[in-house]
Amino acid sequence: EPVHAAQKTYTIGTDVTFAPFEFADKNNKYVGIDIDLMNAVAKTEGFKVDIKPLGFNAAVQALEAGQIDGVIAGMSITPERQQKFFMSSPYYQSGVVMAVAKGSKIQSLSGLRGKKVAVKTGTASADYANSVKKKYGFSVVTFDDSNNVYDNVKTNNAQACFEDKPVMQYAIATSYKGSLELAKNFKMASANNYGIAVKSSEANTLGKKINAGIKKLKANGQYDEIVAKYLGNGS
Ligand code: GLN
Repeated sequence: EPVHAAQKTYTIGTDVTFAPFEFADKNNKYVGIDIDLMNAVAKTEGFKVDIKPLGFNAAVQALEAGQIDGVIAGMSITPERQQKFFMSSPYYQSGVVMAVAKGSKIQSLSGLRGKKVAVKTGTASADYANSVKKKYGFSVVTFDDSNNVYDNVKTNNAQACFEDKPVMQYAIATSYKGSLELAKNFKMASANNYGIAVKSSEANTLGKKINAGIKKLKANGQYDEIVAKYLGNGS
């Protein structure tokens, strides 16, 4: 390839609000672990990215329809998704936790009988909720954005929510401090790893570059720097 060949631009979908992975800062600029990681991978591997905050489910749908090239959105690697997409190597450990309004009497699954549980459409948390709702006798209400999920618990429209552990912990430590808390008698469920999803037809191009980039950034310390920037050291 000629040295001055223009770099290819890939369109990557992301979530709207999923701090510390992606969120709009006070200047309305998208920041977060996923945004920095995607930009660093692109820089290292010599391609350009146009990152679009479409919302989680919308981004996954757009990828499935072939309208975008990839998704970085704290997206859990699952066998179903590996059938549909190329999923990169794992970059962050996660799992599902339960949160309630601070001081709630409900602190475990068994307290949910007859109650409403909020989750985000198309997520591992929604799958988890649907898998146990019969057994514990609760109904599931869905929203497209994590903040709507939390706000519904805060205002008692729903009595609990399920969400990814690092994201729920971050929300409870920041914007929802004093209003939400982790359910004390709930053990993390559906342990999983986040990966970057790529359109199957781009597996050998974009997919390979992404895995090579993740590997380099983990080896040279840049990955740890990105995580520390949002979560501090020792996270
Ligand atoms: N990790 C969860 C999933 O992949 C949620 C992702 C998200 O809400 N951005 O389903």
